[in-house]
Amino acid sequence: MRVGFTSTIPVEIIYAAGHTPIDLNNVFVSGKPQKMVEEAEFEGYPRNICSWIKGMYSVAKQSELDCLIGITEGDCSNTHSLMATLDETNIDIINFSYPYDKNYIKLENEIIRLESVFNVSRKKVLEMKKRLDLIREKISFLDKLTYIENKVTGFENHLWLVNSSDFNSDPDLYEKELDEFLLEAKERKPLDFDLRFAFLGVPPIITDLYDFLLEMNVNVVYNEIQRQFSMPSFKKGFIEQYLDYTFPYTVFDRVKDIREQLTIRNIDGVISYTQAFCHRQIDNIILKKKITLPFMSVEGDQPGEIDARTKLRIESFLDMIRI
Ligand code: SF4
Repeated sequence: MRVGFTSTIPVEIIYAAGHTPIDLNNVFVSGKPQKMVEEAEFEGYPRNICSWIKGMYSVAKQSELDCLIGITEGDCSNTHSLMATLDETNIDIINFSYPYDKNYIKLENEIIRLESVFNVSRKKVLEMKKRLDLIREKISFLDKLTYIENKVTGFENHLWLVNSSDFNSDPDLYEKELDEFLLEAKERKPLDFDLRFAFLGVPPIITDLYDFLLEMNVNVVYNEIQRQFSMPSFKKGFIEQYLDYTFPYTVFDRVKDIREQLTIRNIDGVISYTQAFCHRQIDNIILKKKITLPFMSVEGDQPGEIDARTKLRIESFLDMIRI
């Protein structure tokens, strides 16, 4: 079966059951995102709803899915309505929740429910976790090549980490391409830049943000949420790995993780990205209060290139840090 999902899920279960997981976000942003948004708006999705939701709606309809897993707690309240509008298609809709209070038993019960929906044993799931963890180990190495050896660009880091949510629906191919990339990247000379940045928040809908920063002599050496998608706590147990995954829980879990990484990675400045019409813009209030480094908020709305006003704001921000 082709199993779509709206946000990171315990993907081990889908692979162990012999199905193909598809992260709708990745398909949306790597295809023709503007067209996907317009198609959803044509069907009545409002202008003032986040573009990712509209994109996922169009992608779900066009991806020949057998079923769709919507994250109904710990991600996005818009998902409820997204699922409702897909109800009349032939796609089976399944929900999955991350408990707000990070309760081990509640999360384990959700995972058991998902295993039973896909009729797969925990033994098989754990075998699959072992297989995927070998790839996660290599992703962690790629991350170190980014922030320790300065040999990987922020965009490359973003791309490999973000795609680890479903391993591009083919872990063997993903691993083969990752091996090739690592072989090449290890031999590179360190990149030439003078500022080390953190990128916080959901992956950007702006296509050339990382390139623009690199042109300005800035490399992003920490992609917060993308790193979370790669399950940095994969060495812990199966349930623990998804309890340590900060994205679905409170902003305070994110703050703890972010502060640790800002220090480890010796960060000079922070870009906190938010999506227009996203509830996570409210979390930005807390992030601004809790992070003491130079901090700039950037908002994206429609898919496309960075606008002139944002470029100007970033340039001024960089001037301020350099002075
Ligand atoms: S960016 Fe925000 S509003 Fe949009 S899908 Fe993600 S969580 Fe929901």
